[in-house]
Amino acid sequence: LPVGDGDVPGFPLPIENPARKKGVTFLLGRRSNAMGAVAFLALAMCLRPVLFLSSVAFREARFVPGILPVGWTGDASGLDDAPVAGVVRVPRDPAGAEKTIRHALEDARARGLPVSIAGARHTQGGQTFVRDGIVLDMLDMDGMSFDAAANVLTVQAGARWAEILPFLNRRGRSVAVMQSDNIFTVGGSLSVNVHGWQHDKPPIACSVRSLRVMTADGRVLRASRTENPDLFAGVLGGYGLLGVILEASLETVPDEGYVIRRRIIPSEEYVTVYARALGEDPAVGLLFGRLCVAPDRFLKEAVLTSFHRAPAPPSDLLPRPRWPFLKRVIFRGSVGSAYGKRLRWRMEKVFGRWLEPRRLRRNAALNQTPDDFLNRDPSRTDILHEYFIPPENVNAFIARLREIVPRRGGDLLNVTVRTVRRDGDSLLRYADRDVFAFVLLFNQERTPAADERMTAMTQELIDAALDLGGRYYLPYRPHATTDQFRRAYPGADSFRKLKKRYDKDEVWQNNFYRTYLRGNE
Ligand SMILES: Cc1cc2nc3c(=O)[nH]c(=O)nc-3n(C[C@H](O)[C@H](O)[C@H](O)COP(=O)(O)OP(=O)(O)OC[C@H]3O[C@@H](n4cnc5c(N)ncnc54)[C@H](O)[C@@H]3O)c2cc1C
Repeated sequence: LPVGDGDVPGFPLPIENPARKKGVTFLLGRRSNAMGAVAFLALAMCLRPVLFLSSVAFREARFVPGILPVGWTGDASGLDDAPVAGVVRVPRDPAGAEKTIRHALEDARARGLPVSIAGARHTQGGQTFVRDGIVLDMLDMDGMSFDAAANVLTVQAGARWAEILPFLNRRGRSVAVMQSDNIFTVGGSLSVNVHGWQHDKPPIACSVRSLRVMTADGRVLRASRTENPDLFAGVLGGYGLLGVILEASLETVPDEGYVIRRRIIPSEEYVTVYARALGEDPAVGLLFGRLCVAPDRFLKEAVLTSFHRAPAPPSDLLPRPRWPFLKRVIFRGSVGSAYGKRLRWRMEKVFGRWLEPRRLRRNAALNQTPDDFLNRDPSRTDILHEYFIPPENVNAFIARLREIVPRRGGDLLNVTVRTVRRDGDSLLRYADRDVFAFVLLFNQERTPAADERMTAMTQELIDAALDLGGRYYLPYRPHATTDQFRRAYPGADSFRKLKKRYDKDEVWQNNFYRTYLRGNE
């Protein structure tokens, strides 16, 4: 061995082989170049979303909620805030509640003021108040009990699903029909007659055994399919215009376990795949889909999410939804941003299965809070629309949406699509046959000009729905014309007659009543 020239005599040094050295460097160089390129690409791919989402999070952190002036009230839209004569908090104790409401009704009569009823105030068009009127605030009325023999929940009208779900969860039971979120009250949900991911059910009215209702003269009446059936049909979906619901008895269902399955499909196959999903597995417990709102594939793709009944470990704990902050930032990033909408759709398609659990119980699936995605920017507002379309016209309606929304400049953030079975219970019914419900969430500036632009778009969308044999939903902005309301709700005439019977002096009022029902015979 050659001896090197180092300090340590005789210490063997590796033989220098110039050709090998070149080859190694070459190979290493190639690999490190490739690794470098991959790393650079990965960084570049992550950098934009990371920077984008950080800027959204930063913007979100700076929002300060607006405060209403003393004596004013409003709702989730923030577009119709108005002064009121007073807000009466109805207490939880049943006898005290009745006394308080009776007193408020007498006071209102004496002063010639109208009375409206407010739950969680998530309606968006003044359905819970009227200018200078008296408002009954029902939120303290949140008591509940459970009849284990009949599996029936009896609950005061101010209780929210977020309180009811844990209560039923401890008893292995669940809500039969409710919206896709948990922040709403029972009274508010019954009075608009909500529907949800329960694809095989009519709206919530179908799950009501009976109601206790106080009418304008202070009487408390029981209403069911056999006792005061006209009042029952009118109060469900009756927007607080016939009386105040004090208490409801609701059927419950078992809190079953689900395995979640997601399919990405072209939206024109939505109805076919939806039916196939149910045909393949009759044990589907919940089902809904979401359409893509990214401009490059606008309403052309869909993710269908089905919840298949499967054994699940019993649990009396109700987990919080996963990754709320990340999901919120991804969602809010889509406001006013084509990139944000593309990013959200990509995340939903690629990472959706990791952002949501694969197995869960029904109560956990229903216990979603929209606080995790709703608007916090005081200068803007999120506005919902809903259209109910017969199955044979779903594709035609999607085609109309695809044309109308971009032309009108609507900032569409979300579209979910589910089925609602025919409603045989309520008078002001929107599901007068089996329909697909399109739930559209828009974002707009909180200004009269933006509201006017939204009015024009909404009227065009309502016309599209009506022309296709469909209907629109009433808890949102009062943008429909009275003629559109008449076409969509032929039950309105019978409702007016009922109003004359139970409230001839028009004590119960709200903006919805004044716009569409009062004096519009
Ligand atoms: C994010 C979001 C998601 C939604 N998702 C769905 C959905 O999936 N499906 C669906 O169907 N709807 C949905 N909605 C609409 C929602 O279900 C309704 O707006 C519902 O009325 C809200 O309940 P609330 O407690 O806020 O009612 P409120 O807005 O307080 O009241 C609604 C109506 O009920 C009347 N009322 C309230 N309490 C009583 C009572 N005790 N007696 C008599 N009348 C009363 C009020 O006067 C008012 O007319 C959604 C809304 C939002 C904001």
